[in-house]
Amino acid sequence: MRDFSTDHFQLSLNTATVRKQGDLLAIIEACARHQIPAISPWRDQVATVGLEAAVKAVKTHGLKLSGYCRGGMFPADASKRQEARDDNRRAVDAARAFDAACLVLVVGGLPHYARPGSAVSHDLGAARRQVEDGIGELLEYARGAGMPLAIEPLHPMYAADRACVNTLEQALDICDRLDPARTGALGVAADVYHIWWDPNLYRDIKRAGRERLLAFHVCDWLVPTRDLLNDRGMMGDGVIEISKIRAAVEAEGFAGFSEVEIFSELDWWKRPMDEVLRTCIERHKSVV
Ligand code: ZN
Repeated sequence: MRDFSTDHFQLSLNTATVRKQGDLLAIIEACARHQIPAISPWRDQVATVGLEAAVKAVKTHGLKLSGYCRGGMFPADASKRQEARDDNRRAVDAARAFDAACLVLVVGGLPHYARPGSAVSHDLGAARRQVEDGIGELLEYARGAGMPLAIEPLHPMYAADRACVNTLEQALDICDRLDPARTGALGVAADVYHIWWDPNLYRDIKRAGRERLLAFHVCDWLVPTRDLLNDRGMMGDGVIEISKIRAAVEAEGFAGFSEVEIFSELDWWKRPMDEVLRTCIERHKSVV
């Protein structure tokens, strides 16, 4: 396991962590100030400043992208399927413009939440089939662009509205069906917030292996959790055995960044950007 205790050469900042404190260009400047070597930006943050300006700022500061957030939201009725397809192809193209390590896929839940305007459906099984079909189709395009796709299983509390892929096992089953040769074009984003509770966690990290482990996200699970979406904790403030999970991921050969991804309406979004980044660095050394 890599030693993170003395510096933060493997820290990546998911830019949603400080999304309320400044735009993407300000966040990039702050990362440069704190010698944070990598980021993972969100498409809405990129859209606000413009793709070209964002790519230029990333390159000027020599930052790497541990991932690009995000593609997905595959379930849709017939009227929205083309929109989903075009939107995801644009995400692949943008990820490529940044030379991102992967495009993260938040796959979507029921169609009327994944693609608003779609007819209401409560058929989760059908949504899951659409997710697999959508990933299969996007995979061909992404292969052509040389952009790996990372399926991010989300905690089951998001099954209806954000992602109906909820365990590593489910994500890996999709990977095995669509990319049986384990080419590196399709894998998973392992986010401790979503998978820490899973009784099969360590078995499935092993099953994923090096070829499927494309990204590793960290934050912490607070008890109690006060908001289903925006109450993620700073590493060390909750109950997740983060370093134990990192050890398991690295035992398989994962050598990428540890990406800090905290959505925190009640706490970290209210603090100054520099304080948040300083704390991320500190906890990355002491807890991750
Ligand atoms: Zn994540």
